[in-house]
Amino acid sequence: MAANNSNELPELAELQRVIAAGGTQLQTRVVCEVQSGDLRFPVHAISLGNPSKDVPAVGFFGGVHGLERIGAEVVTAYLASLVIRLQWDSMLQRQLESLRFVFMPLVNPGGMSLGTRANPRGVDLMRNAPVSATEDVPFLIGGQRISSRLPWYRGASSGSMEPENEAVRSIVEEELFSRRFSVALDCHSGFGIRDRIWFPYAYTTRPIAHLAEVHALKEIFDRTHAQHRYLIEPQSLQYLAHGDLWDYLYLRACAEPERIFLPLTLEMGSWIWVRKNPRQILTRQGMFNPIIEHRQQRVLRRHLPWLDFVARAACSYTHWTPTGEARHQHRALALKRWYGGTLR
Ligand SMILES: [Zn+2]
Repeated sequence: MAANNSNELPELAELQRVIAAGGTQLQTRVVCEVQSGDLRFPVHAISLGNPSKDVPAVGFFGGVHGLERIGAEVVTAYLASLVIRLQWDSMLQRQLESLRFVFMPLVNPGGMSLGTRANPRGVDLMRNAPVSATEDVPFLIGGQRISSRLPWYRGASSGSMEPENEAVRSIVEEELFSRRFSVALDCHSGFGIRDRIWFPYAYTTRPIAHLAEVHALKEIFDRTHAQHRYLIEPQSLQYLAHGDLWDYLYLRACAEPERIFLPLTLEMGSWIWVRKNPRQILTRQGMFNPIIEHRQQRVLRRHLPWLDFVARAACSYTHWTPTGEARHQHRALALKRWYGGTLR
């Protein structure tokens, strides 16, 4: 029987409730199991929609950092809303005919049960991929191999990736890389005062090959949700880091020139919550999660339109991804906006 200590972890219990509610409309599997002390937790992957490789795909990921519970909650809440809508929403049913969805809402259940950013082995999953920064990274936060007792530990240099990251890689390769177009959204919290949407790279200040596509996506988002509060930028504008999993997967995706894979990260700015409730700065959880119930509900509600937008954009990618001269223009505008206008 599969490991199940969900009574120890409310986020896992909620995910399993949603999986049960989705019934046969969801294809679910346990990609790996992780040990945390005496407990063992499953890492779930859930797919729905058209399994054909001819349709685009979208992937939602959360709970990579165990302290950032709100990320897992946002992804699970979006899956829960799809499960309810499956029962009555014919527009969703039509969307599912032309889109593949994949969800991994709780990538690091062991870390979440321990209340740590890292996994139970002390490895920061976002510093663990085999990619090293080509420019200077900030001390410790950029990733370190000094000790697993210090934060931002990358894992041993010769080692393969941690099982949680291998689970993400296998799902991304199977469900996203097998299609011509896909988007991944990984939900985090705790950086700064603004809600941010980051795209690669983290390992270099150089722009990605699909800068035009990211810029075009930003443009349709700005036009569709004119009042949105997100700051969209390459992660390298904030800090560089070794071992970013999405850098690694993006670089792998680029090996096939026809394929477009856009990995995005939602960074929910927790300082908004801390500012409204300064006492929560005194708790570790409080730095990364809204503590007051009504505020948590508001955070969940605020981000669901962005997740839904990403799914719609993936589904309709042929209508907005630029080609020819338009692609050159998008790239030039993006270089100007984010990279000081340098043509590279
Ligand atoms: Zn994080």
